[in-house]
Amino acid sequence: MGDSTKQIINESLEALMDDHTFLPELTGSARKKAFSSLLSILSTPNHVSKSFLRVALEDGRVKRVPSFLVQHNNILGPYKGGIRFHESVSEAEVENLASLMTLKNALHEVPFGGGKGGVVIDPREYSVKELNLISRKYVQYFSEILGPDKDIPAPDVGTGDREMDWMMGEYKSIRPGLPYRGSFTGKSVLNGGSLGRKEATGKGVYYSLRYMLYDFAKEQEKWLSERDNPFAETALEHIDQTLSIAIQGFGNVGSTAALEAYQCNYLKNKIVAVSDRNVTLYNSDGLDIPNLVEFVQTNTGDLPSDETQLEAADVKATILDRDDLLTLDVDVLILAALGGQVNQENMKDVKARIIVEGANAPVTSEADKFLSENAVIIIPDILANAGGVIVSYLEWLQGRETQFFSEEKVFDRLFEKMKHTFDTIYPEFFGDPFPLRQNCYIHAVMKISTITFRQGKLY
Ligand code: GLU
Repeated sequence: MGDSTKQIINESLEALMDDHTFLPELTGSARKKAFSSLLSILSTPNHVSKSFLRVALEDGRVKRVPSFLVQHNNILGPYKGGIRFHESVSEAEVENLASLMTLKNALHEVPFGGGKGGVVIDPREYSVKELNLISRKYVQYFSEILGPDKDIPAPDVGTGDREMDWMMGEYKSIRPGLPYRGSFTGKSVLNGGSLGRKEATGKGVYYSLRYMLYDFAKEQEKWLSERDNPFAETALEHIDQTLSIAIQGFGNVGSTAALEAYQCNYLKNKIVAVSDRNVTLYNSDGLDIPNLVEFVQTNTGDLPSDETQLEAADVKATILDRDDLLTLDVDVLILAALGGQVNQENMKDVKARIIVEGANAPVTSEADKFLSENAVIIIPDILANAGGVIVSYLEWLQGRETQFFSEEKVFDRLFEKMKHTFDTIYPEFFGDPFPLRQNCYIHAVMKISTITFRQGKLY
């Protein structure tokens, strides 16, 4: 697990140990021992599995592909988390991502534990047939520990509904006669996936920002009116000010969040920059997001990267270097690409006042500390990007009951669940010495610790 995740879990447990309204049954030395057991339980995964998948490539070569499945904690329910296909995947990273899933599910009261899978490949270098083989081999190797009540994978970076369909198909062949619909989530709708699952993470990411701004304005209003300040009357209008937004990553999460921001009626947004693995596109008057989405969907999946492509997309923008996006003078930075993007090297140049973590762990612990100390609000991954796993839960439920929810019902339930978490977290944050991330960890750790204790696991 990442040192920073471990450290925040430790700090959360320390804060909770001093709060004697929490687990009041535990006192004196028993309390100390129980909290040290909790630290040990939460900072170590239950299982780490590794395999070098043997894959026969189309050119006749046989390749060993390293792959991992980490099952971090299942106290709240079956292990749950995505499977990542990316060349930068490592055992340590998968372990850290699995622990974030445990915390994310606990924070949003999704009845799952945390797990994560990873395969060390650049999927762009493999044919469809080879990717199909890798996906099926992954299931073959780990099938014993997967299943609708054991460990339920989903898409992550480099995987999508196509891979989940293949994997569920393989699971079904390996374990005939067993329930299989709930073995994978994020499947295509035709294959038992849920309506709205694809958009869920990106929608939730933008929702976390919108709700934060609304609560922030409400808090300002309260603060000002308590001091008889006449500006209190106009505080809520602040959310009417135009916000400039830059979005890193234009895959499923980034592009959906961009569309949400573009179409939002509640806030005036201007998406001035978006980036992908090749370029940043910038326009101080705002980019035409629907045209960009259409271009990306009908072409190779990449943003326009030269003047001819911009013209074809009918988008006006200046082309900048990929990483220029991170240090642009904007109000909000949405990070929806990979981990570790805002780090010690660039943190001092970040100008955004609000950062939303659409990806998992995109801000390193050093940068997190520096930016929080400089009053930058960071809406952390486990709070902001839970839309995907929340709708995965709805998909799993639908698979179990062979029911089908309308898209409206899915989004209603998604927003209801996220709002419930925001209503707990945001108001506390405004009056609290802890940054938002710490607040979220405390809530998640509280939930997991209570259940661990109730299930008699601390004796
Ligand atoms: N990979 C997504 C995440 O990191 C979704 C996980 C899921 O749906 O299980 O949250």
